[in-house]
Amino acid sequence: MYDLLLVRYGEIGTKGKNRRMFEQRLQTNIEAALKDLGIEDVERAHARLYVPLTASMEEMIERLQKVFGIASFSPVVQAPLQVEAIKEAAVEVVADSLKKRRIGEGDRLTFKVITHRANKGFPITSPEMSRDLGACLLRRFPQLSVDVHQPELAVEVEIREHYSYIYTERIPGAGGLPVGVSGKGVLLLSGGIDSPVAGYLMMKRGVAPIAVHFHSYPFTSERAKEKVLDLAEILSAYGGPIPVHVVHFTEIQKAINQHCPPKLMITIMRRMMLRLAEAIARREGAAALITGESLGQVSSQTMDSILVTNAVVQLPVFRPLIGFDKTEIVDIAERIDTYKISIRPYEDCCTIFVPRHPETHPKLAEVEKAEKKLPLEELLDEALARTEVIICGDK
Ligand code: ATP
Ligand code: MG
Repeated sequence: MYDLLLVRYGEIGTKGKNRRMFEQRLQTNIEAALKDLGIEDVERAHARLYVPLTASMEEMIERLQKVFGIASFSPVVQAPLQVEAIKEAAVEVVADSLKKRRIGEGDRLTFKVITHRANKGFPITSPEMSRDLGACLLRRFPQLSVDVHQPELAVEVEIREHYSYIYTERIPGAGGLPVGVSGKGVLLLSGGIDSPVAGYLMMKRGVAPIAVHFHSYPFTSERAKEKVLDLAEILSAYGGPIPVHVVHFTEIQKAINQHCPPKLMITIMRRMMLRLAEAIARREGAAALITGESLGQVSSQTMDSILVTNAVVQLPVFRPLIGFDKTEIVDIAERIDTYKISIRPYEDCCTIFVPRHPETHPKLAEVEKAEKKLPLEELLDEALARTEVIICGDK
């Protein structure tokens, strides 16, 4: 019975001259999220997007709930700009709403009609429309009574340029900004719990991620790589396809293991990761790096360690989880569905060659001196040349 999903956006409505770009991006992202359901033309008018309901409503709702930049949306019945047609549509919508709430003839439910008359050419004012429609619904549904202050059911009518839209439900959206409006960021994506959550949080602020994964084949298995691709696939539901650059990291790890003091292994490995990530960022036009670090969580995440690893890059490194406890990160990972993949037991490259006593307070000079033993440029160039790019989540 519903014709459309009417989509409202939040924050992007307030962005002045960037607004057009924001709206276009949101529209594109919605179209991409629904592409394989046969929905192509999402219409945009007056701070609203209109998505035709052609596939299963449940499926469409589930997908739209993940699209950042949406404040809320409603399944609506579209009616011509005539009072009788609006009443008919409202009766249909209310009957459906009562059925969903299991309100029978003998039950009671308070309601209120709210009219938004954006089209001032419509001859009836909002209060008149609300009163008239309210009376009509009262006659039609004996279980209803009016409560204008705290109604259990709000029947809303939007009078727009060409049509009116009638609905009772407002489904909360994911909030945030449309993915892409803030630019691109390189997400260092391990197979762990934290980095997918970090990626999710930056996507929420409009960053389109380019994932980079450091793979230590044959020390780590194909399965470890699959796991990362599966994580990228889940993240793509929040913002479209994600390219994953799988960097062959084995030679670098071997070289560090061979030439550097064991206690600096992790610090130097991290510096190599950041250098490679930055090189990919520059090549791909990304303006920031993103990691899943949380202060003090492990030895490589102390302030001293972060200082020393950060020193090799110029681009800002976003660490959206820096102030989060593990339990808080796990909560989000469960909610966004990455947790069940992150806990698969495959080895990560960071668990190979791990020293018994990693340095928790590395000194920059000492680390730089240790790195002098490495053919840095050669190692970096070779790893970049052996990078494979896989697009995840392309519908
Ligand atoms: P995660 O749960 O994200 O793996 P972690 O708690 O295991 O994090 P570390 O192993 O210290 O922490 O890694 C810190 C960050 O470095 C990760 O969040 C991720 O952004 C990046 N990182 C670590 N290993 C890799 C890898 N193999 N490929 C890409 N990025 C990595
Ligand atoms: Mg990890």
